[in-house]
Order: sequence, then C-alpha cells, then structure tokens
Amino acid sequence: MNNPFENAKKQLDLAASIAQFDPNFIERLKFPDRYVEVSIPVMMDNGEQEIFTGFRSQHNNALGPYKGGTRYFEQVNLDEIRALSFWMTFKNAVVNIPFGGGKGGIIFNPKKVSKAELERITRGYIQKIFHLIGPEIDCPGPDVGAGSEIMDWIMDEYSRLSGKKQLAASTGKTLPNGGSNGREEATGFGGGVILREVLSKNLISSERKTIAIQGFGNVGSYLAESVRELGWKIVALSDSKGGIYNENGIDLTKAETHKKKTGALRGLPDSKDISNEELLELDIDVLVPAALENVFTALNAPKVKAKMIFEMANGPTTPEADEIFNKNNKIVIPDILANSGGVATSYFEWYQNIHNEKWTTGEVLDKLHKLMSQAFADVYSIQQKYKTTFRKAAYILALERIKEKML
Ligand code: NAD
Repeated sequence: MNNPFENAKKQLDLAASIAQFDPNFIERLKFPDRYVEVSIPVMMDNGEQEIFTGFRSQHNNALGPYKGGTRYFEQVNLDEIRALSFWMTFKNAVVNIPFGGGKGGIIFNPKKVSKAELERITRGYIQKIFHLIGPEIDCPGPDVGAGSEIMDWIMDEYSRLSGKKQLAASTGKTLPNGGSNGREEATGFGGGVILREVLSKNLISSERKTIAIQGFGNVGSYLAESVRELGWKIVALSDSKGGIYNENGIDLTKAETHKKKTGALRGLPDSKDISNEELLELDIDVLVPAALENVFTALNAPKVKAKMIFEMANGPTTPEADEIFNKNNKIVIPDILANSGGVATSYFEWYQNIHNEKWTTGEVLDKLHKLMSQAFADVYSIQQKYKTTFRKAAYILALERIKEKML
C-alpha cells in the first residue's frame, strides 16, 4: 500500500538533491509542525451516539497561517492528511500566496448521513480543534466530500465559540456567508490557465488534441469547461462509477445533464462505457487525474500512453510511477502547480473577508489568471535552468521561497 506521506517526503528529497539546500532545512520540512487526532461524539437522528474520528495537520507556517482543505471521506487517514498538509505548504509557496500548509479530515461518508447529522459532525469537529485554528492561525477550506455549506458551518461554529463574527475563519463558503465570487470554478479555471501556458511552449506535438479526465466533480468539470474553450477535444470522462469514451469528443452539457439525472456518467448515449483503468491507458495527448491520490503506480504507469499527465488531483502519481513517466519521456505537470488555483482563490476570499470587500467574478478570475500565469513562468524558468522535471522545478521554487522566510 502506498503511503502518501512517505511519497511526499521522497518527492522533496528528489528535488532537493539537484539544488543546493541545507540538509537541516530539508529535514525540518519532513515533519509537520503539529497534527492532532480528535474524537467527535455525535447524537445521530435515531437517538444513538456515534463517535467519529477527525484530524488536522499543520505542516509549516513560514509563509503565513496554515491553510488547507477538509476531507470528508471513509478512507481518510492521518498519513494522507499529513501528506496533504505538506503539499499545501509547497503549493502555496509555488503560487506565491502568504499561507503555510494545513489539512484536515473526518473518517466517514457524508452521503450516508442526514443533513442535520452532517452539521452536528462538522460543528463537533470544530469544537475539538477550535483552540488550534482561526483566521490568522489556520484556516480550513473545502476538499473532497466537504463543500460550501460545510464551510459556512465551520465559520459559524468558530464565530460562535469565539464570541464574534469571523468570516475569515474558513474559505469556500457560500456567497451570502462571505464566500468569494469565482471560488467554485477557481481550481478548474486555474488549471485551464496553466494548461494553456504549458501547451503554448509546444512541449508535445499533437494533431488530434485529445484529453481524458478522470473524476468529474468540482475540479474535473470546471477544467473540462476550460479545455473546451482551448479548442481541445475531451474524449473520455469518468467518475467513481466508471467512465465514458467518444473519439469524436464528449458533449459536456449532455454529460452533465445525464450525470444529474442518473447519478453517473455511464450510459451516456453516443458514447462507449469504459472502466476507470481503461481510461488511464487510452491513446490520447493529455491525461488529467482529477479524483484522488495514488492513481498511478509502478503497475499501471508503464501502460499510460498519454504524452502529458496533468495533475489536477492531489498526489495522483507515486514516486515509482513518476520515475517510469520520466523514463518514458512523459511530461508531468505537478499538482502543486496545476491545481493551485483553488487555494489562490481561497486566499482572495480570506483577503476580502478580512478587509470587508466584495470582488466581482471578473475581478477574481482576472487576479487568478495573473497569479497562475506568473506561477507557471516562475516554475518554467527553474525547469529551464536546472533542465529537470516540472515537479522538481516546482519544489525548488517553493523551497527557495520558504527558505527565505525560515532562515
Ligand atoms: P469532488 O468530490 O467534487 O469530485 C471528485 C470526483 O472524483 C467525483 O466525480 C467522483 O465520482 C470521482 N471519483 C472518486 N473516486 C474515483 C475513482 N476511483 N475513479 C474515478 N473517479 C473517481 O472533489 P473535487 O473537489 O473535484 O477534488 C478532486 C481532486 O482535486 C482531489 O484530489 C482534491 O484534493 C483535488 N483538489 C481540489 C480542489 C478544490 O478546490 N476542490 C483544489 C485543489 C485540489
């Protein structure tokens, strides 16, 4: 079983090995500043008590308050949360926002509880970590299974416990509760900006311009929108129930309507049902993992035919798979660059909350566009300087920025 935290540390060592960093500095970054496991007793609708387990990991705050999502998922574990908090430190540094890295999660399936239970679980979690978080300490945001309504409850519970309204206690909230215009589409949109920049460098040659996306949730669906604007063809899509394929391109509007109606992508008329494994092995130009981590391993990486892997999910490629991709001359655009648009817009939301401002969607996406283009330019110049992979280049850039503040 792949341990995502061990993978994250390996990525750090690999990047540090090609640049000149003090080994003590690198070693220090392998340990989160702090992590907690909390138990959350919740009275369920049937009158019986259930105990849930939650985590929060605060990796590093050299650049600013810890910042990162909250994952509600049955298979969440501490190593995963520590790895995700680690990646947040680097991602925030790559996109150059004043935040450190944090992440949290609760072990359960949010689809299997009622809305009232979901609220009680969320508030119970915040009561247990209240003394560790706050707008200028650690600011939770959304992640898999935890959307805007949950972020509202987090902000509300934090405000209630602290005795004053604190909109900046969480990000990814609904608009009436201090959410930012543009946050929902931000991660996918930001990925679209990076993809456009990458393609403009002509790193891959393609006649067909084909893309497959694994995961059609928040990130996958907005990235798909951006790809459509680029004039590329999405030939395959998938969700947890399986995938669909159409060599002439999938009609996104029809796919969305079909998923809303049936709860799955499979069975979409005019397309062929395929498995998630088959999607990863398609003969296409760009493959986008946009679901969960550890998708590419030593077992399936040799079978990947795509020329470029564009990581919208966090940690989809194990170090073994990364090595195979490098050997096979695949270009990998790393998660800490590709999906950093989400946290960048969380920063915009936090900033608006603190300064009591409200920006339009146009203003937000315009600022995001500038930030993402700059992040790509910064990573690209290091990639050119060291003649290395985009992942190592992104790590080196982040390390330089963190080092400057830590020393
Ligand atoms: P989401 O819950 O909205 O969507 C996840 C999608 O993945 C769903 O369509 C689900 O059906 C699908 N999925 C789950 N298991 C799958 C499997 N085995 N095979 C194929 N599809 C599967 O979550 P999201 O917010 O879109 O996040 C997706 C990824 O992007 C995660 O790795 C997350 O950490 C990362 N991410 C999200 C954000 C954000 O702003 N939401 C920001 C940065 C990174």
